[in-house]
This record gives sequence, structure tokens and C-alpha cells, in this order.
Amino acid sequence: MQVPFVDLKLQYRNLRTDLMKTMDDVCSGARFILGPELQEFEKNFARFIGANHAIGVSTGTDAIMMALKAVGVNPGDEVISVANTFIATILAISSGNAKPVLVDCDPLYYNIDPEKIEAAITKKTKAIVPVHLYGQPADMGPIMDIAKRHQLKVVEDACQSHGAQYHGKTAGTFGEAGCFSFFPGKNLGGYGDGGGVVTNDPLVAEAIRMFRNYGQKVKYHHLTKGWNFRLDNLQAAILDVKLKHLSQWSASRNAAAQKYSRQLKELGDRVVTPAEMPHATHVYHLYIIRIKERDALQQYLKEKGVETGIHYPIPIHLSPAYADLGYKKGAFPVTERNADEVLSLPIFPEITDDQIAYVVESIKEFYKGR
Ligand SMILES: *Cc1c(COP(=O)(O)O)cnc(C)c1O
Repeated sequence: MQVPFVDLKLQYRNLRTDLMKTMDDVCSGARFILGPELQEFEKNFARFIGANHAIGVSTGTDAIMMALKAVGVNPGDEVISVANTFIATILAISSGNAKPVLVDCDPLYYNIDPEKIEAAITKKTKAIVPVHLYGQPADMGPIMDIAKRHQLKVVEDACQSHGAQYHGKTAGTFGEAGCFSFFPGKNLGGYGDGGGVVTNDPLVAEAIRMFRNYGQKVKYHHLTKGWNFRLDNLQAAILDVKLKHLSQWSASRNAAAQKYSRQLKELGDRVVTPAEMPHATHVYHLYIIRIKERDALQQYLKEKGVETGIHYPIPIHLSPAYADLGYKKGAFPVTERNADEVLSLPIFPEITDDQIAYVVESIKEFYKGR
């Protein structure tokens, strides 16, 4: 059996008729930039997330970069985020010439450890960027308390967590702004790059709309230095078709994860399955296990036709790109442990019970000889 890591071809086949129609509509009308389909998607995505405004932008990285600028982070300011994330979170901070200050993740849920945040705050700290990693919300209660106490802005990286909830509130709606990626492989993905910012603050929304469109509100009236960071109208039309399925897809991802966790239990503590935070809904962008024999297991699964991933093999603070931050090996032990031990198993809404059973059987076979 072959088990792909994700199966976007299958998803396309299932939605082909609707997608072909919307793509043909957009192209027939030559509505490529800032068209009505974008407005419609923004309205529907804002409603889905439960925010007053959604603004479609070029990528998740650009979403975070612009959101930080919109909430008043300036060059030289410090922004606290988590060492255990995709590097794009941190690239977005440094792109605006702010200084990323990293803290470790917690050992159970792998999101930013609220207990480590206050020690990282200095006079220069302006904002916190919590990441809702793998589809599980960060512990936003204590994070928002800390932000309030120290008058810090909060920009959420929800690029892996479309629709995840924490105490009944959707990830991306706790801080001043929430940022999403619509990269093809994300839980809601287009057919190319894309991103979005959600906010309840009309001024933040207005700023993002200006920033994404050359710094103008009215054509050729440039009020600030912006970028060309728009979401293509064609991508918005595609995303709007897919958005209608997102709740169902999240439920399917969650159901698949429960099956993995139940079946992997037999292996005891050799395989650490994901811990779910109480009062939270995990949308399982990734299904992460932790094992000591990670590289050998990954190789074994590859030979069995099971595609897996590692998210992420080299922590940001040990990457050459961020040598300038001056962190040494040992600075963030939980993140470093995870880099050595995590393995992402195939998960996507259409994964079958047979595929899940085959992956689990293959893992059990791997351990039989050990
Ligand atoms: C994908 C991702 C991003 C960046 O999104 P792009 O659309 O690829 O720029 C940022 N943060 C996290 C956690 C991501 O997974």
C-alpha cells in the first residue's frame, strides 16, 4: 500500500466540477486583482473565524509581517515568539526589522510555554507572536493575561490552525490580529500561495488593506510605504469553494487523529502520541508522534510506502540564518528534543481507515524486531 503524506490530487478530483466552474467564471470575466470573489471570500472567512474583518494577502509570512507593522511594531522593537515553529513566523518578525526573542515550547503540547514568556520581556518588547502549531491552539488565557499586564500587542500565527478553538473561541481572534496561510498543503489551501489577516480592529484592517496594495487607499494616492501583497482573485474564488468544506475536513482530520492515537496506544510509551489541551479543539494540520528511533522509523516507513515528514528538524535558533541572535545549543531544550524525536504521520481529510491501520501496523512491525 502507498500512503501519501497528503493527497491534494484526490481532493481536487472530489471538488473538480465546482472548482472548474469558479475558475472559468473568474477567467471569463478577467477579474484577476481585488475582484468581487476576493470580497466574498473575505466576508465568508471572517464569518467562519468569528472576526469582524478578514483581509486576503499574498502569504502567511506577509500576513504576520504586515500585522506586526499594523499594530505598531517598529524597527528595533523586540517581539517574543516560540523556538518551536516553522521559520516563517520568525522571518516575518525580522523582515520588519524587529528583533525576534525566542522562548521554549512546553513539553506536552509543543506550543509556546506561557511560564517562560515573562522572563523574556524587556523595555523594548512590543508584541508576542504565539503560534497555534500543528493545529492546536496555544494556551491563550495566560498569554493574553501577560500581554495585558505588560501592555504588549498580540499577533497570532494561526497558519496551521484554521478553525481551531480554545475555550470556544477561534484561534486568531484573541489578539489584535490573527494570521493565516493558504499555502496548498494547509488545512485551507489554494492553488498557489495565499494568506489572510483577521482582526476586530477597523484601523488594523484598514492598515493591512493599504499595506497590501502599494500603501494606497485610492489609486495613486500613496499614504504609506506598502507592498504588493494581495491575494489573487482566482485564489480567493478557489478558497471560497473549499471553505464550505473546511468544518467537515477538520472533523475528519480529528477523527483520523483519534484513530491513530487509539491504535498506537498498544505500543505504550515508546510512541508518544499528541496530547490534546483541555477545552481546546485541535484541527490536526499535522499528526505528530515522538519516538527515540525517529530516523530509523522514518526510513522503515518509507520502504513500506508510507510518506512522513519532520516538523521541524533544525530549530530556528540553531539555523545559520539566525546565528545573529546568539542562541547556543541547549538554549531551548524542549524544542531541541522535539527536533530529534518528532515524526509527522500522514493525515488529510480523505485518509481511509485502511491507510491508518496500515501505517500503525507498519510501526508495530518496526518495533517487533526491537
Ligand atoms: C505555513 C506557515 C507560515 C507561513 O505561511 P506561508 O503562506 O507559507 O508564507 C507561518 N507560520 C507557520 C506556523 C506556518 O505553518
